[in-house]
Amino acid sequence: MVNVPELFGSNVFNDETMRDRLPKPVYTALKKTIQDGEALDISVANSVAHAMKEWAIEKGCTHYTHWFQPLTGVTAEKHDSFITPQGDGNVIMSFSGKALIKGEPDASSFPSGGIRATFEARGYTAWDPTSYAFAKDGTLYIPTAFCSYTGEVLDKKTPLLRSMERISKEAVRILHLLGKTDVTRVMTTVGPEQEYFLIDKDMYDARPDLIYTGRTLFGAKAPKGQELDDHYFGSIKTRVSQYMADLDKELWSYGIYSKTKHNEVAPSQHEVAPIFTTTNLAVDHNELMMDVMQKVAEKYNLVCLLHEKPFAGVNGSGKHNNWSISTNTGENLLSPGKNPAQNLQFLLFLAAIVKGVDEYQDLLRISVASAGNDHRLGANEAPPAIISMFLGDELGAIVDSITEGTEYSGESKKKMQMGVEVLPDFKKDTTDRNRTSPFAFTGNRFEFRMLGSSVNVASPNIVLNTVVAEELKQFADKLEKADDFESAAKSLVAKTLKEHGRIIFNGNNYSDEWVVEAEKRGLLNLKSVPQAVAHYLDEKNIKLFTENNVFSKEELHARYEVDLENYAKIINIEALTMVDMAKKDIIPAVTAFVRELTDTALSKKALSDAIPVELETKLVTSLSQKLVCFSNKVEELENSLIQAVELENDVQAYADFYCDTVFANMQELRAIGDAMETETSSEYWPYPSYGEMLFGV
Ligand code: ADP
Ligand code: MG
Repeated sequence: MVNVPELFGSNVFNDETMRDRLPKPVYTALKKTIQDGEALDISVANSVAHAMKEWAIEKGCTHYTHWFQPLTGVTAEKHDSFITPQGDGNVIMSFSGKALIKGEPDASSFPSGGIRATFEARGYTAWDPTSYAFAKDGTLYIPTAFCSYTGEVLDKKTPLLRSMERISKEAVRILHLLGKTDVTRVMTTVGPEQEYFLIDKDMYDARPDLIYTGRTLFGAKAPKGQELDDHYFGSIKTRVSQYMADLDKELWSYGIYSKTKHNEVAPSQHEVAPIFTTTNLAVDHNELMMDVMQKVAEKYNLVCLLHEKPFAGVNGSGKHNNWSISTNTGENLLSPGKNPAQNLQFLLFLAAIVKGVDEYQDLLRISVASAGNDHRLGANEAPPAIISMFLGDELGAIVDSITEGTEYSGESKKKMQMGVEVLPDFKKDTTDRNRTSPFAFTGNRFEFRMLGSSVNVASPNIVLNTVVAEELKQFADKLEKADDFESAAKSLVAKTLKEHGRIIFNGNNYSDEWVVEAEKRGLLNLKSVPQAVAHYLDEKNIKLFTENNVFSKEELHARYEVDLENYAKIINIEALTMVDMAKKDIIPAVTAFVRELTDTALSKKALSDAIPVELETKLVTSLSQKLVCFSNKVEELENSLIQAVELENDVQAYADFYCDTVFANMQELRAIGDAMETETSSEYWPYPSYGEMLFGV
């Protein structure tokens, strides 16, 4: 039996531990830093560092690391031991405040988008005291921000913290206008639902594509996929269930509120979701969670695939970013209350979000853009690449009445039919039915559903927070000057909802009609990474980020470069892997099978002309023709990779070429490869099949 309350947070140097272990004045000073962002005194830091080290040693740690989130897309860590030589050949274990607060890793090998030359490649990591340190695998992990020595930001945490500051400041201005002067701080909260696949490690090890790229680059469909809907919420297999139980225990020990687990739509696909928390923590927890998910899988001879599209023909994996705003007084600002039509506070925040999502569709799309996610968005399984918002029937009707200037009856049809007299708070289930919307209101929060399963959730939240901060700022600037706040606020809400109503769509986002309709409305449909990322540097976006001090112009440019370069690199690796698999495994395997068929036919003929050899002849002909096409396509793909090199100096053209030419060639090559797989004996086919992988756990 696990004692969950005891286990929970046992590997975290959390508030309780700090209270127990720090001298009172040190604890108070540290709390001030955490809550109010006050600078940390070095003597306080020394005391905290000492207590942390003592605690970490008790947890079996010998090392510490500044854990950070560079632009690689994965977290980074460099481990230093606590040992300090004593001059007499002995060592003691020590950890100073200086080492806690600041680290100086060599930054030259992290992507920086050309932000600094390698001769000044130093960077530094700075402790983020708002996220707790934790002990894992013998090392004390200290969450940190990562900057270049000249101060440019090279990570995802720093802009996230900046964006949280911004939205807090502007939301507080609005709340003060509404008379809520006791509110001093506002936090955004996030609950990310995480999808993943689990497959057997032996099969994974036999697939170079999974090893190098995280997805299958070849693979004919299995006779069965997800068409029976029998996996979604289905009974969980023992091996998977043991994995999930073990995963929960690990996550709880790191203070992660793991709450929900279930099977997902595709075979071998699952989901885990924690209870929401402050965005900064939610981001760190999700990064840690993805790491732990992969490590725990090893124990069960499983591999946890976090790629957005490991298998063609069945659903890919996403991540739902449930996002809300709440005050330090404990109020959820996206809670519509009993009477949303009269709830001016709710309507102001709603209007700000509607305006923000409409004006910065491109940035939201960019924030989830990745080579992996390109396989999902618009591919009839996840929300399309078009951003729109779903408000639900009731809220939709309220918004309609506001924009049309008509009286809102206050009672939806559904309620009247049910004859319910006294209604509880606004019903969650009237809002949550549209599963196709990329940005849906779900009762007391918005659910941004376009995220790919492997994305760092900091990215979309940086955009969301900044965008909403900007709109709230514009609102506050206007409303602070108004003579009659209430009527000014009401007309501002009406005007805003009217002007940005085009972003609201309650219908089926997967339908072809929506694509046409969205175009009529002037909404963006950015289908690929290069198309989306090009908008990073649009005038309005530079203005947004620089004026809100979230990114400088240089930092934005750097991110644009890193995103495009990274995209090109990923496609390049995929293409090289395909070429390798084709030449070294697939062509020889099919050739061998053809030889066996030919030999069989020849020996039959030698025995007697009367024995039919039609089958062998037909197969040999078909496979031989395909082999020729296949090897021609391999050559074409290789040539396109050579061509790509010429474009290297123009990062946009380079990424475009990978998208339009290299990727297209890969698709064609795969189609022929998969067709050959269906005609080749499984004894000869060099890789585990889709059926074996998807149903093999
Ligand atoms: P569903 O699958 O219906 O979307 P889940 O229960 O799986 O619902 O996930 C909902 C997520 O939303 C959970 O992580 C939950 O903690 C989170 N959530 C609930 N309220 C808020 C809120 N106010 N802010 C952010 N996230 C929230
Ligand atoms: Mg959800």
